[in-house]
Amino acid sequence: MKGVVVKSTGSWYLVRDEEGKLHRARLRGKFKIKGLKVSNPLAVGDKVDFEVEESGDDTAVINQIQDRENYIIRQSTHKSAFSHIIAANLDQAFLIVTLVSPRTSFGFIDRFLVTAEAYDIPAMLIFNKTDLYDEDVQDYQRQISHMYGAIGYGSLPVSAKNEEGIEAIRELLQGKTTLLSGHSGVGKSSLINLLVPDLELKTSEISDFSDKGVHTTTFAEMFEVNEDTFIIDTPGIKELGIVDIPPVELSHFFPEMRERLNQCRFNNCTHFNEPGCAVIEAVRRNEISLSRYESYLSMLHGQDNRK
Ligand code: GDP
Ligand code: ZN
Repeated sequence: MKGVVVKSTGSWYLVRDEEGKLHRARLRGKFKIKGLKVSNPLAVGDKVDFEVEESGDDTAVINQIQDRENYIIRQSTHKSAFSHIIAANLDQAFLIVTLVSPRTSFGFIDRFLVTAEAYDIPAMLIFNKTDLYDEDVQDYQRQISHMYGAIGYGSLPVSAKNEEGIEAIRELLQGKTTLLSGHSGVGKSSLINLLVPDLELKTSEISDFSDKGVHTTTFAEMFEVNEDTFIIDTPGIKELGIVDIPPVELSHFFPEMRERLNQCRFNNCTHFNEPGCAVIEAVRRNEISLSRYESYLSMLHGQDNRK
């Protein structure tokens, strides 16, 4: 049978078959992924071949993992340690942000977008809690959306509280597997509750399968919006790990910088203080937003410090 991993506890997996039925499954033997040092061989979103054992305890055995289209990892802070695959086979990633209570920083947004660029996963911003925005904040939201729109990132204002914009989110999700991310407090759970029918039932069904007492809060979980639409929630994961980006390559993951790179005097320009830099010139002319450039510099220098 074919299925998709919807939850993983590290030793057990929950696999959804093509009819939507859940199976508790384990891996046959050991799997190794070439060239990757990871702590978990399988992650949420992985497509697998499995069989249900006739005899015994009604558990399934996963025989094969299909090639991943992409995957995101959480990088270990220790160079020598293993990384953790958070999720695989994503079509897109949405970052839920708020402008009030709490206010999401541009630094956080831009890190998320750079990560999505590095993984080549389309990304967009969902502005939640619009019911709390006064006119000035609404105006500000439109300015920010315009700024991100100009560099290719869509955005959508919504209110989980007033259930506004939920149909628009549904349309964007339809037929795809979408990662939902965001700082705690932005209303991610509230939105998931509105988007996933019978969420409580599904959550209890899923936790029945999971090992009791196993700490699973850092594992992602996949929820069914409808039969071909899924969202992946990553509880407790604030930031996705970026595959190590060398400083000279960081600007490749800022679309508005990427398109100007061949205009810099030096082809290894880091757009920090080099003469003849087309990026700095574009910032001066307000063609690249100052907040984006500041995010770029903080990532550039953060990386330098770590090395
Ligand atoms: P999470 O931590 O991102 O999962 O956020 P929650 O869904 O738990 O929401 C955090 C808090 O924000 C709760 O008190 C929610 O009631 C509140 N909240 C969520 N969405 C909205 C919204 O659209 N408007 C307002 N005013 N409050 C919201
Ligand atoms: Zn430059």
